[in-house]
Amino acid sequence: MHSWLIPALRVFSEMQERNRLPHALLVTAAAGLGGTELAVEMARRFLCVGDRSDECTCHSCSMFRVSGHPDMTRISGGQTGTIGIDEIRQGISAMEKTSTNDHGKVLLIPEADRMTEAAANALLKTLEEPPAESLIILTTGNIRNLLPTILSRTMKISVLMPGIKELQEFVRKETGREQDFRVEIFISGHSPLKAVEYAGNGIGDKFRQALELLNGVLSGSSSVPELADYLLAELESRDLICSFFYGILRDAMLLEAGAGSQDLVFLEPYPELASRVSELDPDSVLQGIKRLNDLKMVRSNQFSYIRGLQISAWLELLTGKNRG
Ligand SMILES: [Zn+2]
Repeated sequence: MHSWLIPALRVFSEMQERNRLPHALLVTAAAGLGGTELAVEMARRFLCVGDRSDECTCHSCSMFRVSGHPDMTRISGGQTGTIGIDEIRQGISAMEKTSTNDHGKVLLIPEADRMTEAAANALLKTLEEPPAESLIILTTGNIRNLLPTILSRTMKISVLMPGIKELQEFVRKETGREQDFRVEIFISGHSPLKAVEYAGNGIGDKFRQALELLNGVLSGSSSVPELADYLLAELESRDLICSFFYGILRDAMLLEAGAGSQDLVFLEPYPELASRVSELDPDSVLQGIKRLNDLKMVRSNQFSYIRGLQISAWLELLTGKNRG
């Protein structure tokens, strides 16, 4: 179990110890934090007929780990990615059958915000009159997409975003590499699993290489067109290219606010670049961030967003050097 899931699991276990579990729980966790993994662990503990520990080998837990549990129904969602009314109805009717070992039934609905309105309304009736000895666990990373009536009938347990230090430790452990992973953590939006992915597929290294080139533009060892080509060829996606500029502008704002170099995401290893960026006009930095946010919202094909980005113009702003 990931360290950042443990406080939320503890809340569950304490309610269970005191026989105060509600009939319906909503696990809220940002994407990539493992909200579903946590919900599955809660289900195992609910159905456990032993001591509910991590290592429990009671027949319920053993079965659960090997092949799933007949008293747990897990909704998977259709091919379109949504959860339809039929699937919810099947889940509910499974809940109403007698449990196999007299220890209740669990219905697990991962990413419950995928439910269609009809599906959510079907579930609502069950939330109003839940079967005895049952537990419904919903998870979501987008709580605003759930009906208020669902929210008001479930007890919320939130997974909090881990801090930088915890994330660094996690990525180091997962990759077996003892390096600084701030770049990967930032571009993943603090998603631990995504950060590990960026460490593994070399995207983080490409960011560092791009920063190296950007720093080189100042000293004359590389050029703006060279870096623009590198960004387009290696970072490829709009979101990643936006993240590159966003990270630098964010550092510029931090420097403007008086932050020390250890607080910077991208520019700590490049004092000359940091000093240059810290001299940017704060209004143009804010404007730049706003434009990047707008760009991320726009759905566009590759060509138009690259043109919209005007990479060279951005680089000229950052370095004070032009295309020549
Ligand atoms: Zn057990």
